[in-house]
Amino acid sequence: MPTYEYAHKIESCGNEWEEWKSITKCFPTPEDKCPKCGATGNIELQVSGGSGRGRVELGEQEYRAKIKQDAKDYKKAVYASEEKYANIIGPEKYNHIQTQMDKNKGGRW
Ligand SMILES: [Zn+2]
Repeated sequence: MPTYEYAHKIESCGNEWEEWKSITKCFPTPEDKCPKCGATGNIELQVSGGSGRGRVELGEQEYRAKIKQDAKDYKKAVYASEEKYANIIGPEKYNHIQTQMDKNKGGRW
């Protein structure tokens, strides 16, 4: 999980801190508490600055890894279902492949 930088945007506090969070939960909610003064709300996610950019990149990598995993799962689902596979390559091509497979079977036996 990437590290995110937060700031409590009120004049009486102005606390800045870092937190480890999942990319889907990195944006602060009005219920989030400032670890210094304990007040809720007015918390901002900091993404600017040199070190901040590095953190954003890390988040992007995590995001890309998730997309990759989703694509893998999708592929698995496609290969698991002949119907889905036929839909993607088109019925004509699918029938052609099936014919080729039958031909190969015939040749082997
Ligand atoms: Zn505070």
